[in-house]
Amino acid sequence: MKSWIASANDPVSHFPVQNLPYGVARKAGQAARCVAAIGDKVVDLAALEDAGLLHTGAQVFATGSLNGFMALGRQVWDRVRGDLTDLLVEGGNPALRNTPALRQKALLDAGQVEMLMPVKVTEYTDFYAGMQHAKNMGEILRGSPDLPENWLHIPIGYNGRASSVVVSGTAIRRPWGQVRGAGGPVFQPTERLDIELELGAIIGQPSALGAPVSVAQAEDMIFGYVLLNDWSARDIQGWEYQPLGPFQGKAFGTSISPWVVTSAALDAFRTAAPPRETPLLPYLDPQKPGLYDITLTVSMQPEGADRPTTVTRTNYARMYYSAAQQLCHHSIGGCPMNVGDLLGSGTISGPERGEFGSLMELSWAGRDPFTLATGQTRSFIEDGDTLTLSGYAEGNGYRIGFGECSGKILPAIAQPDWTK
Ligand code: CA
Repeated sequence: MKSWIASANDPVSHFPVQNLPYGVARKAGQAARCVAAIGDKVVDLAALEDAGLLHTGAQVFATGSLNGFMALGRQVWDRVRGDLTDLLVEGGNPALRNTPALRQKALLDAGQVEMLMPVKVTEYTDFYAGMQHAKNMGEILRGSPDLPENWLHIPIGYNGRASSVVVSGTAIRRPWGQVRGAGGPVFQPTERLDIELELGAIIGQPSALGAPVSVAQAEDMIFGYVLLNDWSARDIQGWEYQPLGPFQGKAFGTSISPWVVTSAALDAFRTAAPPRETPLLPYLDPQKPGLYDITLTVSMQPEGADRPTTVTRTNYARMYYSAAQQLCHHSIGGCPMNVGDLLGSGTISGPERGEFGSLMELSWAGRDPFTLATGQTRSFIEDGDTLTLSGYAEGNGYRIGFGECSGKILPAIAQPDWTK
């Protein structure tokens, strides 16, 4: 399948006609609107909706988030994806291709627009579903790779903060916090600032209070996926996390990619989770393969460095639990889901050092620093470093890509005056 937009047919483009991820963008001086990506162009969905070319049955795209569109449900998602494909594929509906005035209005150069948060994130839950990551953290923190006794039975998670989820490109301030000191806690900027390479599932349909959803129903509720960097302050986290889990060590920022790659676009890349080490309770058994074959990378670029260094290359198929299993488990006691809920997969790590999804693992908690292409070494993130996640599923001659999720670390603020 080719597009009449030539840049979309480049085999390494992240945005071929098979992908059509959704986002929100703003052209200078204009209001935000929902868009889709195709090659090096951005399609203004509000303009196509105005022209009567997208069958939503409502006006949902002239707005600053995808939530209104997501709320319409999977039948409408499928119909709009069909409409868009037909408008952009070679030999399809000529209504956009052959109408210069509409083309000028609806087809923008990607460089012309600012990408904004794609969804209004209503709630954010973060999981811990990567087995290699859990084993590595056990070995680093407790001296044993043994998994916690519940790990093979429950997708472990905690309720994070939606308020600090930001779009790629937003700089992140090094946070202050309490860390363990020799003579008691010390208040200081974190010295162990880290990333977590994750995929975020965007929930597009709600569930009701008191009504658990099955894994199959959960699959249908997931609109799509974003790259997600769960920034983490390991020293703050290490002092605070027992017995209730992460708190301020995670609350200062979570970055997501501006493009939401739909579950429909990823469907051809479904793959089963690794074999179960022990049977799951029946409610968590999936009806179909719940993971996707998505190559993921992390690169790091210090301030002033002339190039980034890829420090990690791994695959989403490494996870032990799928987003649908996590969503099912999340709802099992009756907790309702909202349109715009965000679920972090948990850190994605493969078995080898070059496949670890956090610097904590890559530098083994600072005991074994790694070297960048520029010759600089790192254990954790230093001020001015930019961290970038990227990823794609590889099809036959095309890629279903996520673009990038990037963030630069700024120095901590001056110590607040507590007497004020
Ligand atoms: Ca995490």
